[in-house]
Amino acid sequence: MVDINIAAAKEKLSTKGFLDIDVSPELDLFLEIEKLKKEKNAIILAHYYQEADIQDVADYIGDSLGLAQQAEKTTADMIVFAGVHFMAETAKILNPDKKVVLPDLKAGCSLADSAPGHLFQAFKERYPDHLVISYINCSAEVKALSDIICTSSNAQKIVESLPADQKIIFAPDRNLGAYLIKKTGRDMVLWDGACMVHEIFSLEKITKLKIRHPNAKLIAHPECEEPILRLADYIGSTTGLLNFTKKDPSMEYIVATETGILHQMQLSSPQKTFIPAPPTNNCACNDCPHMKLNTLEKLYLCMKYEQPELLMDPTLMVAARKPIERMLEISAKYGL
Ligand code: SF4
Repeated sequence: MVDINIAAAKEKLSTKGFLDIDVSPELDLFLEIEKLKKEKNAIILAHYYQEADIQDVADYIGDSLGLAQQAEKTTADMIVFAGVHFMAETAKILNPDKKVVLPDLKAGCSLADSAPGHLFQAFKERYPDHLVISYINCSAEVKALSDIICTSSNAQKIVESLPADQKIIFAPDRNLGAYLIKKTGRDMVLWDGACMVHEIFSLEKITKLKIRHPNAKLIAHPECEEPILRLADYIGSTTGLLNFTKKDPSMEYIVATETGILHQMQLSSPQKTFIPAPPTNNCACNDCPHMKLNTLEKLYLCMKYEQPELLMDPTLMVAARKPIERMLEISAKYGL
């Protein structure tokens, strides 16, 4: 009976995106996941924006740069990627011979989706003398059309590593691109993409919140819009924000990025208060709906049945690998 259910779930995998199998609520998933890790020599890499339970079972929790670096050096046989699709793709590109599984194949990214490969190719052709720096939040197709990949942790260094007269296309995030133009003084052509989570913060509500909490510092991710960044006391990548809250003496922060990071902030500084920056409407829109498609149950199932597995075109993987390697080389050079 159970086998019939599994067979049916596997059949529906491509439409559902995950194995739709009931998991007994009595099962201790934390224990089971630990057992599966050992049995299968698996490593769980999780992004900071994952729900707290997933972060708690992960072997490594990080932002996109840290996750790519971990994926590059892992000796595990199976990589379990708790994040979104483009992140699992990056892990696969760096480990073409390893099995990469993910809890839900449909965990996408509005930012990556804002730059379809064929449209980006046409855009790039309009600027033949430009080099392309792409933020890691893009599809493998866009990576393959890029010269260097960057993350929010290393973007500034990567832009500055190019000669001052080098013309640059930056894709796909227009807010991070505008922030980099301001920081580096470089004139870059920007692709017009954005993240649905980081564009939702309300300047008006944050201003009111700052009045109610006069000692709270506003800390923001550079994917936020310019008016929010102008108000921020500190701007940084997800890891940058976390590290800032560990070292900074303030006791209260308004955090303008996806709410998942608050779990690590609270664990690192239990005596401090972290307030999620409010969105323009009343829903929990600063929760990334793509990241939050992953659940502990789906994570357990993908480890147990080794599905959904991420499979990619080998030629595309080779083309997309080069710009990722360039990013890792530059990051290593600067100790990032
Ligand atoms: S938070 Fe934004 S950039 Fe990150 S995965 Fe979600 S939609 Fe993509």
